[in-house]
Amino acid sequence: MASATLSIDLDAVAANWRALDRMSDASTQTAAVIKADAYGLGTRRVGRALATAGARRFFVAIAEEGALLRQALGPGPQICVLSGHMPGDTEMVQDLDLTPVLNSIEQFTRHFEALPDHPFAVHIDTGMNRLGLEAAEWEAASGILLQARPEFLMSHLACADDPGHPMNAAQLAEFHALTDGTGVPRSLSATGGILLGSDYHFELTRPGIGLYGCRPFDAGRPVLSLSLPVIQIREVAPGETVGYGGTWMADAITSLATVNAGYADGLMRTLSDAAVLWYADIPCPVVGRVSMDLITADITHLPEIPDRLEIIGPHQSVDDLAETAGTIGYEILTGLSQRYGRRYIGTGG
Ligand SMILES: *Cc1c(COP(=O)(O)O)cnc(C)c1O
Repeated sequence: MASATLSIDLDAVAANWRALDRMSDASTQTAAVIKADAYGLGTRRVGRALATAGARRFFVAIAEEGALLRQALGPGPQICVLSGHMPGDTEMVQDLDLTPVLNSIEQFTRHFEALPDHPFAVHIDTGMNRLGLEAAEWEAASGILLQARPEFLMSHLACADDPGHPMNAAQLAEFHALTDGTGVPRSLSATGGILLGSDYHFELTRPGIGLYGCRPFDAGRPVLSLSLPVIQIREVAPGETVGYGGTWMADAITSLATVNAGYADGLMRTLSDAAVLWYADIPCPVVGRVSMDLITADITHLPEIPDRLEIIGPHQSVDDLAETAGTIGYEILTGLSQRYGRRYIGTGG
């Protein structure tokens, strides 16, 4: 088999959700953010595992993701759509019982005209300047919006992964100023905000990245391993170069393994001449450039010819790989190739 294997531990996802849930009081509900195909791990399987673990409310980015999730979960759990209610969404919102998180006056108008009795939530901007009503818009419209009984009011922190950042307290104060006394459930925190402590929890939290065992949730259980099949072994002599651009040159007789994955699979070119693959607990440095479908690694020192090398696993986490690539775990996860064979472990139960 020439395709790489991505193993996804659903029991670890479920354990991470439960651990994040335990970090807030029983009066705070913990949702699950599974936008972008559950951060690349698969909406259907991850959604079902989290529902089994006890999640009753989910967030996705767009209505189409919500439709897929509803098919996986069936009726019951609330599915909130962060992009709100866009033109063309109405039928999906209604038929699949999605809850749009309305971001603008335009979206409110669209929602109330099309589906006046359908549940919705409200996103208020407190400094991210990306989505949500501006403070002045909220103040002008809050009377009418609160009368229509939103499911919850939410905002989003810009710097929650940096506990010492002054923006956290500033956004918290602004959220209080705009929503105290409304009597409506509130939500401010994603994974980073949960770790900031109980002041940030309100009635609902929205963890995403922590479910998948990544930073900033350092206590999380790793969820992934990714092993790449070796498709050819060769020897190069001193002075020979490897790969596009000839960026790496052998200074001794070197055994190379060529594995079947590359930047088209989300293993970005910035890993060239930098990343390490693993054979059990022996590191094998990547030599030469990462190409579209192939990566070459030095295996001269291995005691035997490997049939697979690991790029994510116990020796190299998603965050380790992200650091080598000059990016963040979120980008590694959401770039995981559709070409990988996905193997699920456990059920989340
Ligand atoms: C993506 C997202 C989340 C989840 O964030 P993590 O950092 O992955 O926990 C929560 N809320 C909103 C609005 C988001 O866009």
